[in-house]
Amino acid sequence: MKRSGTVYLVGAGPGDPDLLTLRAARLVEQAGLIVHDGLVDPAILAMARPDAELVSVAKSRARHTLPQDEINALLVREALAGRDVVRLKGGDPLVFGRGGEEAEACHAARIPVEIVPGISAAMGAAAAAQIPLTHREDASIVSFVAGQCKGLAEQDWAGLAGKGRTLVIYMGVKTAPMIAEKLMEDGLSPETPVALIENAARPAMRVLRGPLAGLPQLVEQHRVKSPALIVIGSVTARDDAALKQMALEAHE
Ligand code: SAH
Repeated sequence: MKRSGTVYLVGAGPGDPDLLTLRAARLVEQAGLIVHDGLVDPAILAMARPDAELVSVAKSRARHTLPQDEINALLVREALAGRDVVRLKGGDPLVFGRGGEEAEACHAARIPVEIVPGISAAMGAAAAAQIPLTHREDASIVSFVAGQCKGLAEQDWAGLAGKGRTLVIYMGVKTAPMIAEKLMEDGLSPETPVALIENAARPAMRVLRGPLAGLPQLVEQHRVKSPALIVIGSVTARDDAALKQMALEAHE
C-alpha cells in the first residue's frame, strides 16, 4: 500500500508574513501543494515555490466556494495519494478555523496530521492597535466569540463583557447592530468603550473607537468590512494620552 502524505494544518496569522511562525514559513516555502482559504494574505502565498500547486477554497460569509466536507475530502484524497498537504488558514487553525473538523477527517482516514499554531486575529489586532487584552487594572478575563453563528439572539453571552472583562468578537461586522443590542439588553452600559479593528496587521489597517451604543453607526459610517474584529471593554480606551496623540496625527 502506498504511504500516505501528511496533512499540515498551518496558521498563517493575521496577514503580515513576518507574523508567521518559523515552522509555518518553512512549510509554506517547501510545500508542493498548498490548500488555502481566502483570509491568507497574498504576500504569504508569494513565499511558495514557483512550482507549488496552490488551491484556494475561499470561504466568506456570503460566498461558499467549497463546502467543508469537500475541503475535508480534498485533503484526505491528496494525502492518500501520497502527497503532503499544507492546509493554510488565516490566524490560528483551531480558533474559528474549522481545524478540528479537518483534523478529525484526516484521523478517520488514518492520515498523519500536524497542527502549526498561528497568531489569531485577536492577538494580531491587539498588538497592532496597541490594545492590551488583559491589564492588571482593567481586565483579567478575555473571551472570544463568533458574531455570525446561527441563533445569535439565543446565545447566552451574559457575563462575557463588562467590568474587568474583554470581549473579542470575530465575524461580527454584519451582525454589529444585533451584537450591540444583545449586550445592552444583557445590562452592559451603552457607554462601554468599543474598538473596531479592520485589516489588523495589514497595510490597510483601521482602528475605530466609540461607545457600545454607537457600534452600528461606527460600522456603517466608516463602511467597515470583513475581516474586522470588535473588541468590547475598558481596555480599548485605556491609553488616553496615546489615543489623543494618534487622533492628532490622523488629522495632520
Ligand atoms: N482562524 C482565524 C479566524 C477565522 S474567522 C484566526 O484565528 O484569526 C474569520 C474572522 O477572523 C474574520 O471575520 C475577522 O473577524 C477575524 N480576522 C481574521 N483576520 C483578521 C484581520 N487581519 N483583521 C481583523 N480581523 C481579522
